[in-house]
Amino acid sequence: MKRPFITKAQAEEIIKDNPTPFHIYDEKGIRENARALKAAFSWNKGYKEYFAVKATPNPTILKILHEEGCGLDCSSLAELILAERCGVTGNDIMFSSNDTPAEEFIKCASLGGTINLDDITHIDFCLKALGGKLPSRMSCRFNPGGLFTLGAGGEGFQVMDKPGDAKYGMTEEQIIEAYKRLSSLGVKELGIHAFLASNTVTNDYYPALAAILFKLALKIREEAGVTLSFINLSGGVGIAYRPDQTPNDIAVIGEGVRKAYEEILVPAGMGDVAIYTELGRFMLAPYGHLVTKATHVKHIYKEYIGCDACAANLMRPAMYGAYHHITVLGKEDAPCDHVYDITGALCENNDKFAIDRELPEINIGDILVIHDTGAHGFAMGYNYNGRLWSAELLLREDGSVVKIRRAQTIDDYLATLNGYWDTI
Ligand SMILES: *Cc1c(COP(=O)(O)O)cnc(C)c1O
Repeated sequence: MKRPFITKAQAEEIIKDNPTPFHIYDEKGIRENARALKAAFSWNKGYKEYFAVKATPNPTILKILHEEGCGLDCSSLAELILAERCGVTGNDIMFSSNDTPAEEFIKCASLGGTINLDDITHIDFCLKALGGKLPSRMSCRFNPGGLFTLGAGGEGFQVMDKPGDAKYGMTEEQIIEAYKRLSSLGVKELGIHAFLASNTVTNDYYPALAAILFKLALKIREEAGVTLSFINLSGGVGIAYRPDQTPNDIAVIGEGVRKAYEEILVPAGMGDVAIYTELGRFMLAPYGHLVTKATHVKHIYKEYIGCDACAANLMRPAMYGAYHHITVLGKEDAPCDHVYDITGALCENNDKFAIDRELPEINIGDILVIHDTGAHGFAMGYNYNGRLWSAELLLREDGSVVKIRRAQTIDDYLATLNGYWDTI
């Protein structure tokens, strides 16, 4: 059973100063989880998590994670600037982007971050952008093509993704060529990166990916004469959005990667390769709630509960049909004897946080918690229908609440209009 990290009484107190809807994050949960991840990989001397900034691009959150020893994985100029403003630079920045503008490579290099090249043509592109001199530490993104499957058949889970249809990364042939070229251009420290499946809810994804990359690392040493310094398992470790799913056990995942490391890399004399991760969802999703109020009850062919949040505040259900658990505060233990669609105000029929969801009876004014919105929640917000971004709040470890981003205003919404309309 999923329990919110705030109670009804707490929510009512918070709402006095912060009208719904808002996103709220749980600092205690974030820190404990970051420590569990670090412990799970403590067997690897060079281990570092680079939090995927795109999941929750709020500087307060980034600073908390940096305090816990995380670097930042950026993918755009704005994210690089966020990292810089948080005092995160040098080897604490990973830059994994694609179709990258020249100015972003320049910014990353000026911060001393590690550029992760998405394509073999980016070597020359980057060389030109940086005035003929590459940084001393770089990475290449690998795409094995075909299908990536895991656990197919009888093991109670299956992961399948299609790297062959994904726009990211280089083929094996290209990546070997890329390492030869980069090392001839004087790049001293080289790494590899791959992201083959998203939101995996199994302890076997990272170990399977690690084995693929570790074997490839041996081949790269043999064929390109390059010994990799780091291997980046990227993101993709998921969370249990549904209450009946078994959450991943990060300690088991860390042990699985260690086993592959000891079987493949250590005997080959590569026992000092650093392991990196770039988790986003796993780091933040469970530690964020979208808090909204029921504002309308509508009965036509189905029962609808309208609320003051909409897909502009959380796009995942509309975009992916994603499940997000919902709790009606104060009715945590009431019987779920009603069936509702929970809707937002957008003029789009996919603006539904839940469809045919069994919930307790909901009355106007009830406070709803939409769970697991801490990653790819606020971050994917948009202004369709003139709906504005909500505030973001942080529940501190001492129980106090601070605003870490104010809500967007109508003035913000109008700010990019340049006044031409007034002259005609
Ligand atoms: C999105 C992304 C991540 C994080 O993915 P999660 O599924 O949130 O863990 C990591 N690395 C890169 C390059 C990404 O694009």
